[in-house]
Amino acid sequence: MNKKYHPETLAIRQQLPTTEQGEHSVPLYLTSSYRFEDPDQMRAAFAGDVDCNTYSRYVNPNCRELELKLAALECTEDGFVTASGMSAIFSSFATFLSQGDHLVSCRSIFGSTHKILTTMLNRWGIEHTYVDVADPDSWEQAFQPNTKMVYIETPTNPGMDLVDLEWLGKLCKAKGVLLNVDNCFATPYLQQPAKFGADIVIHSATKYIDGQGRVLGGAVLGNKELIEEVRTFCRSVGPTLSAFNAWVLSKSMETLKIRMDKHCENALKLAQFLEGHELVKCVKYPSLPSHPQFDIAQRQMNGGGGIVTFYLKGGAEEGAKFLKGAEMCSLTANLGDTRTIVTHPASTTHSRLTEEERQAVCITPNLVRVSVGLEYIDDIIADIDAALKASAH
Ligand SMILES: *Cc1c(COP(=O)(O)O)cnc(C)c1O
Repeated sequence: MNKKYHPETLAIRQQLPTTEQGEHSVPLYLTSSYRFEDPDQMRAAFAGDVDCNTYSRYVNPNCRELELKLAALECTEDGFVTASGMSAIFSSFATFLSQGDHLVSCRSIFGSTHKILTTMLNRWGIEHTYVDVADPDSWEQAFQPNTKMVYIETPTNPGMDLVDLEWLGKLCKAKGVLLNVDNCFATPYLQQPAKFGADIVIHSATKYIDGQGRVLGGAVLGNKELIEEVRTFCRSVGPTLSAFNAWVLSKSMETLKIRMDKHCENALKLAQFLEGHELVKCVKYPSLPSHPQFDIAQRQMNGGGGIVTFYLKGGAEEGAKFLKGAEMCSLTANLGDTRTIVTHPASTTHSRLTEEERQAVCITPNLVRVSVGLEYIDDIIADIDAALKASAH
């Protein structure tokens, strides 16, 4: 596709060639394999001598379209899409890390990623060191001679803390290690880690890329060489994205920009409302000037995103009452949906952890996370306000 187009045009216009049917919307290619003209072509295809479709664990037109769109938006050369965000993350570890390697990771990462680091990679002789986002000065000491990769999320979940990508990109370059960034919360519209030196960018497409809570998907993005290694690993192992999910996700990409603009607008309005609320202790949202890293947000993000974290006056009991008091907002494990979702980790997802374990991942008893949806903002604010009043009774 012509590079002169803006990313938001590419997200709409970068599509598979029209077939002889003349369709305007790209068809769904439900096929597990592809036909060859003759044995010579088949031999050449499997030897990698010609670039053509072989088998859908390897390649599928709908998946390829989504890869090209995501790579265009993330400013990377190439990409590989996977069945879920977790399979993208695991594949990025398994492709580049070997026995005896060491990984530096920020402590506040997605729960299943934490599980991979602590219960799986160590079984294969890959060690990790956690570093705190709030203490970047300590990161250099975490590097070892065998450190191969740095893995981060920014903004972090649920603390909404930021990692300075320009600083970390330079540090990783100087140390000669791969920088791997899970860009799920920001999406490529709000932040492009590759511009700051990230070698690998990960997405859970399940969240904002789909944006409507329908399908799972994931992606690994980077330069041609690195993605070729990921592709080689995935072709044999098989964490392939289904053609149907790729087709849904590629269509969703056409509206990502306008959805993200609205998520940001609604989230900022909610954050401003919460900031002045008598039952709220404090609010964390990247584009509020009160965010401790507001300057970093201004430098590396084009908007604050759709997630607002706030701290109630009170503790776990108030948090549980808050959840019960919400009428419209959904109580569910997803985020990045058109529908506003509220979570209180201390009384739900993280209730079995000890107080210290929760503290280590920045989950205090009074923390509430809102994934701000696309409903009319006054309705969102009214529902959250009613839940806040319920939390105090
Ligand atoms: C949801 C999520 C994942 C995992 O993605 P799945 O598509 O559920 O496998 C990874 N990282 C972050 C930040 C997420 O929010």
